[in-house]
Amino acid sequence: MRPFTYLRAPDVATAVRAISAEPGAKFIGGGTNLVDLLREDIEQPGTVIDITGLPLTGVEELPDGGIRIGALVRNSHLAAHRLVTTRYPMLSQAILSGASPQLRNMATTGGNLLQRTRCLYFYDGAAACNKREPGSGCDAIGGFNRQHGVLGVSDDCLATHPSDMCVALAALDATVETRSEHGVRRIPLVDLHRLPGTTPHRETVLAADELITAIELPPPPSGAVSRYRKVRDRASYAFALVSVAAVLKVRDGSVSTVRLALGGVAPKPWRAYAAERALLAAPATEESFTRAAEAELTAATARPGNAFKIELARRTIVATLRDLLAEGSAA
Ligand code: SF4
Repeated sequence: MRPFTYLRAPDVATAVRAISAEPGAKFIGGGTNLVDLLREDIEQPGTVIDITGLPLTGVEELPDGGIRIGALVRNSHLAAHRLVTTRYPMLSQAILSGASPQLRNMATTGGNLLQRTRCLYFYDGAAACNKREPGSGCDAIGGFNRQHGVLGVSDDCLATHPSDMCVALAALDATVETRSEHGVRRIPLVDLHRLPGTTPHRETVLAADELITAIELPPPPSGAVSRYRKVRDRASYAFALVSVAAVLKVRDGSVSTVRLALGGVAPKPWRAYAAERALLAAPATEESFTRAAEAELTAATARPGNAFKIELARRTIVATLRDLLAEGSAA
């Protein structure tokens, strides 16, 4: 780890001013990813700005029935919050499926959005990695790529986004609020993360001086049921091979509302728009669910190590929708 200057921001304006004065600086909240990156010399900021004292720790109900989540709300607190467990149980399920209790107690909502990939080569200074060192190559392409992505990847980077929480937020139509010296900006969560293309080191649309202050969720669709399903190598403390966040409402045997997002398969939380289009107004049957999954996955490209993810994603989408159909019918 290299030496850096430590600065504790007492309020949002000071934090924004400080990062504006030094765009190479980094904010630190829970530190559950940044500290690893500092230790491995992957992040080398001259200044670390501690934002844990900012008043961004509330979960509030909005007048339209949605909720506003402060960027510094700890993951464990959010997962257990009454507004989340009662209105957005899928979000709670997603958070609780990730990391460990200790990590969830430290990790913040804003930091969860910005955590970096867990590609092994990214953390290995001896490996070629375009994300860590632009232009150096990608050792995952000819190497161990079982955990890597099949949707939205490029020949320069196959890494997946590691968050479970973000997959649920993508399906829930979340909006991210930021502050900078230029004012307040609102970004749909599905537009926050970039695809790698030829610049995998550029991971989000945020400017260097932007601070995430909150996440807002619209009210959940009335009468819909939702679920987060995660498939992984072991039952806890493992990243998703494939995950599915789904919201479903069926009326008179046809799908009237559907939102689907995938995790573990793409460089960003992957909203499955092609599957949603195929499902909307279709009969709520296993055949429709299968057709929708296939519509989404026609764009998938696999490497030898991760080709299994395409079939796994198809089956996980279908199984999740099947479960939701049964749950909705029983309600
Ligand atoms: Fe680096 Fe991406 Fe290749 Fe992993 S997949 S080695 S993060 S360029």
